[in-house]
Amino acid sequence: MRKIQMVDLIRQYEDIKEEVNASIDSILQSATFINGPKVHEFQASLEHYLGIKHVIPCANGTDALQIAMMGLNLESGDEVITADFTFAATVEVIGLLKLIPVLVDVEADTFNIDPDAIERAITPKTKAIVPVHLFGQCANMERIMEIAKKHNLYVIEDNAQAIGATYTYTSGEKKKAGTIGHIGTTSFFPSKNLGCYGDGGAIFTDDDELAHYIRGIVNHGMYTRYYHDVIGVNSRLDSMQAAVLQVKLPHLDSYCQKRRQAARFYSEKFKNVKAIIVPKMVSGCEEICDACDCHVFHQYTLRITNGQRDELSEHLKEKDIPFGIYYPVPLHLQKAYADERYREEDFSVTNRLVKEVISLPMHTELDEEQLHFIADTIITFIE
Ligand SMILES: *Cc1c(COP(=O)(O)O)cnc(C)c1O
Repeated sequence: MRKIQMVDLIRQYEDIKEEVNASIDSILQSATFINGPKVHEFQASLEHYLGIKHVIPCANGTDALQIAMMGLNLESGDEVITADFTFAATVEVIGLLKLIPVLVDVEADTFNIDPDAIERAITPKTKAIVPVHLFGQCANMERIMEIAKKHNLYVIEDNAQAIGATYTYTSGEKKKAGTIGHIGTTSFFPSKNLGCYGDGGAIFTDDDELAHYIRGIVNHGMYTRYYHDVIGVNSRLDSMQAAVLQVKLPHLDSYCQKRRQAARFYSEKFKNVKAIIVPKMVSGCEEICDACDCHVFHQYTLRITNGQRDELSEHLKEKDIPFGIYYPVPLHLQKAYADERYREEDFSVTNRLVKEVISLPMHTELDEEQLHFIADTIITFIE
């Protein structure tokens, strides 16, 4: 058996090597390193793929969130509601902009922000909600957009983990993740579902005026060269990264499909194991099927409910099976984000999840032998 990797980018590269090398070579030959034609080509391809009017490329997914908030003119003291159970980037930029982060609990079965908790957290100072589509499946956008409309709030979707996923409304209407709120953001960090070979990110919107404003913000607040109308930042996707992404984008759906196949294998194996809860599928799907794209499994995350998550982790280490604990500490308990306003009883789900979750190897190159070995090792230990 091949050595199991948490993420296997080398084998994925081998499959597209010629195309990627040629694409990078075209940048070297033309020396169009910054703002070159490849960046515009990729931008147009991603707009087409997502079915959105504007994609604004930028340097990384964290910048994308910051720029989105700058683009909405959120001001110091405005409250922004986001999930307690996620990567820190979201709450970090809220803090950097001197906005007030308001962390709320998530749903145990989807790991995503709990709409009821959002409603409870709204005050007259609330200006925006940032749902994070955690692990590759959309938060309850239908409810979140209703709440936002009722209270006149902006919605920024952090789509760093769910690019390629589809959200299905109760009416049956479908939309791509990241294109539902006022703004969507994403990351092209190498291990993300659509990853480049360095850092990269993007902002999505259907709003022409907002898109124009943001295109200036990412470029030092310039709308005319050397005339700075607003305070901006320098945040660019470079042409080399765009060259890689332009090759990989046509493969995104098949990459997500491969992830889904691995997820389906895992879930079939674990579904009758008492102490294991497999990821819940929402958006109209009961089980993982090849035809649906409601979950793109950036991570495949189990809940171990018998208190043995840490023992299982140790066991996997001994068996040379990589795993991840996403995330080990709720954001409201992080030193940087602790705040006396928070009450522990408001975070009962996150506080439980950090002790139960374990993410298994998930990438486009897992074979059946590896999947069997991973699943059987876990089942033998837990049962
Ligand atoms: C990866 C990630 C980010 C940050 O992206 P970078 O490109 O690393 O800055 C933000 N939010 C979430 C949910 C992520 O997973």
